[in-house]
Amino acid sequence: MKIILLGPPGAGKGTQAEVLCQNFHIPHISTGNMLREAIKTGTDLGKKAKELMDNGILVSDEVIVDVVVERIKQKDCVSGFLFDGFPRTIPQAQALEDKKVDINLVIEINVPDEVIIGRMSGRRVHLDSGRNYHIDFNPPKVPDIDDLTGEPLIQREDDRPETVKDRLNVYLSQTLPLIDFYLERSRNQQLNYLKVSGLGSPSEVSDLILAHIKNN
Ligand code: AMP
Repeated sequence: MKIILLGPPGAGKGTQAEVLCQNFHIPHISTGNMLREAIKTGTDLGKKAKELMDNGILVSDEVIVDVVVERIKQKDCVSGFLFDGFPRTIPQAQALEDKKVDINLVIEINVPDEVIIGRMSGRRVHLDSGRNYHIDFNPPKVPDIDDLTGEPLIQREDDRPETVKDRLNVYLSQTLPLIDFYLERSRNQQLNYLKVSGLGSPSEVSDLILAHIKNN
């Protein structure tokens, strides 16, 4: 199963990705997490990406497509994968098609703009694993501590209120056109397209997604 999770920053893609990947035994490929890891380990990719990411600007299509293409060559991707935060532009989606990476399912998590800003500023992340929490909607058992490792959670640089609006604008101008791109492919029966509301609790949203997958 090859899945793309589409939706604005703060829609809950990371949280849903974990549930889906556990269910279908596929790896969670989050380009944002891969870039944050590269920054942490100080690779060339990380050096290139840091300033862009801190300001909510997208990394270039060529760089990100290369990273993803290398990643899906790995053994754990033989029976599929889930993309979270990729593709983020029409050229990235087009590059996947050019490389004959056939996607089975695109899941759009829909959340109104005004809700996103509150969600992003309450988000906390466990840096090593990329596990996401929200101080109100999906809190860790102990405030600011990762449930599984007991390590501290952080607020991402780019979740600061002054950057959140820029990221939303980048989403609206560069990523939103992917909805029509994939709806067209769904009408041509090239893939399955599911639009769910991201306004429910994390488990309500994942129940909707899993029920749809079971019935299709
Ligand atoms: P995310 O964790 O998915 O919200 O990504 C955080 C940041 O990483 C974005 O604001 C971009 O700067 C960069 N990034 C992640 N995925 C991509 C992508 N597919 N294309 C370009 N930049 C990306």
